Amino acid sequence: MPSGRVHNIINTATYGLIAAATLWAQSQQLVVLTLPQAASFSVAYAVGTFLLSPDLDLAEGRVDSKRRWGLLGFIWVPYGRMFSHRGLSHTWLLGPLTRLVYLGLIALLLYSALLLVWPKLHWPASWPATTSSPSLEVLLPLALGYYVSQWLHLIADGIRPDHGMRRSQQKFRKLRGGARRLGKGR
Ligand SMILES: [Zn+2]
Repeated sequence: MPSGRVHNIINTATYGLIAAATLWAQSQQLVVLTLPQAASFSVAYAVGTFLLSPDLDLAEGRVDSKRRWGLLGFIWVPYGRMFSHRGLSHTWLLGPLTRLVYLGLIALLLYSALLLVWPKLHWPASWPATTSSPSLEVLLPLALGYYVSQWLHLIADGIRPDHGMRRSQQKFRKLRGGARRLGKGR
């Protein structure tokens, strides 16, 4: 299994390749990319590489991806306890989502705690009016940047896209075996 450092090098080098290929394609007018699109992809890719790595499932111990959070690293300890290493956290579709949902829940918890202390706190009233909801133009490159960074990690780990399905099949087989043994025992 590659170390956190090796994962970072692989992801950074690949980012360089993607950027070079995109610039070339743009100069040939094969693709037209706006600045917000390029920026969203790059930010999501960097966050996925350096802050939301699948190896946070090891955060109950000392791991590179947790260290990058500095003082806030401790918030990932429960995540490390909840998810077994290279289990659901390392699946292609759900794995990256688990980290986003986890972070969302922490933010919600923090907000509720703040509300308890400071009941007058609420979202700024002007918030929905000033910032229109993000458009697909930004959301798609965000999702793509995040997922590509995660998939590169999984490829470097040697994990196939059907990892999640194979895992549940194995679990099902184990369950079925257990049920059969129980049946025979009777
Ligand atoms: Zn990994």
